[in-house]
Amino acid sequence: MSWKSLELTGWGRNSHQTALTARPERQKDLQRAIGDSLAQSGLVAHGGLRAYGDQALPRGDDQHALLTTRMNRILAFDSATGIVTVEAGMCFRDMIRAFVPKGWLIPVSPGTAFATMGGAIANDIHGKNHDTQGSFCNHVLGFELITPDGNTQQVTPDHNLFRATIGGCGLTGVITTVTVQLKKISGNCVQVTETKIKDLESYLIAFDEAIAQNVDYTVGWIDGLAKGKRMGRGIFETATLSDETIELKPAKEKSVPIDFPALALNPLSVRSFNLLYRNRFLRKSRTTLTPFEAFNYPLDAISDWNRIYGKRGFHQFQCVIPRSEGERALPLLLDTIARSGAGSFLSVLKTMGGDGRGLLSFPMKGYTLALDFPHKAGVEALFRSLHKITADHGGRIYLAKDSMLTRDEFDAMYPNADEMRQVLASLPHSEKLTSQMAARLALTGDAA
Ligand SMILES: Cc1cc2nc3c(=O)[nH]c(=O)nc-3n(C[C@H](O)[C@H](O)[C@H](O)COP(=O)(O)OP(=O)(O)OC[C@H]3O[C@@H](n4cnc5c(N)ncnc54)[C@H](O)[C@@H]3O)c2cc1C
Repeated sequence: MSWKSLELTGWGRNSHQTALTARPERQKDLQRAIGDSLAQSGLVAHGGLRAYGDQALPRGDDQHALLTTRMNRILAFDSATGIVTVEAGMCFRDMIRAFVPKGWLIPVSPGTAFATMGGAIANDIHGKNHDTQGSFCNHVLGFELITPDGNTQQVTPDHNLFRATIGGCGLTGVITTVTVQLKKISGNCVQVTETKIKDLESYLIAFDEAIAQNVDYTVGWIDGLAKGKRMGRGIFETATLSDETIELKPAKEKSVPIDFPALALNPLSVRSFNLLYRNRFLRKSRTTLTPFEAFNYPLDAISDWNRIYGKRGFHQFQCVIPRSEGERALPLLLDTIARSGAGSFLSVLKTMGGDGRGLLSFPMKGYTLALDFPHKAGVEALFRSLHKITADHGGRIYLAKDSMLTRDEFDAMYPNADEMRQVLASLPHSEKLTSQMAARLALTGDAA
């Protein structure tokens, strides 16, 4: 297996690390690469590199990083039951393109189609349908895991490493194959209704009504700069699975060719974007039939969109707040964000239906709010305030997006943090699987 020195970064491009990388294409190369790197300085597994922060970044330039996206084959599929086994480097786009035409849908998907099945397990990812479908790992029947001692384990929900691996940030081992239960569908699209919402109170009512009606998908876009009576205004989307099959037009490839200059993103440009976005249709609401990919992955329409934040990159704040605290915590968060004037477009509000199955799963019954911030002076202090509001109201920060939590903040938000440390400490050679995030949160290594 050949190893190449390469600079790696998360999707937020806010920190970088050079590492020795390999891109195996066959099971035997993958096994050899894992064996080589475990025998040396250790490794980090990489999927689509869509985690925003330092979660998939190695700790030093002598560490190995395993790039898994070419391990993307379908290994078994039962068309009667919808149970499929794939290699862990397979991404959501390939899953949708392979199985929707056969009448089966991956039941939970994140907001990008370039995340892989391995990455989806490592963060127990959620979609716009957490209330009705739970997290991704609720649909995972099992996976194959190569633990840091080099042994291969078949992990099913009753295995002792299941809870530590789902949402476990890749620290228990390298996931090589994943078995998922797909959902039967009869069309290839969703019927989406977008409604303009005037303030936060109306938003929370709209979510309550949609949950009561068991709507398949719900998501809200919020204008993060709106203050006072307008705070929380935005566009609310609900969607239901449709029986119709619509013609899929090949999307035009669009990309951001250069890193934008730092000044391009300022309150004026964000305000103008938000105004245009809010007025992209004139009536109070509209309903359309939309293909799964266009509905689930609107941001993927422009590849490398992360370059609009310039060379210094950006951070995403994403928290979940318990349902009972939403009315109190969300106004505080939105007010702090609006006053800072530092937020960008794309502030997203969703609901979550309950806890995930992993020790470090992010979801809890409540509201999740996400917003991007350019990496510049003052952003860390702002995140500390947002972390404090989150923790004071019993919420937590999503590790897939994080690069700033301190160990103390993390411990206050994740009640199973110590149990996770114990599981990792009990795994022979667990020090061989680590990352910058694991060190920062003292999950593995010297600080644990
Ligand atoms: C535009 C955008 C929208 C997003 N929307 C959502 C959303 O709606 N909901 C949501 O939950 N998340 C969302 N995310 C976050 C994303 O789904 C997660 O970060 C996911 O884990 C990324 O998967 P990946 O394959 O890119 O993994 P990477 O970013 O490469 O790695 C993430 C973690 O997974 C581990 N990992 C990857 N592959 C393996 C493997 N084979 N074995 C063991 N560990 C592995 C890595 O070590 C690391 O800890 C979004 C991200 C982007 C960029």
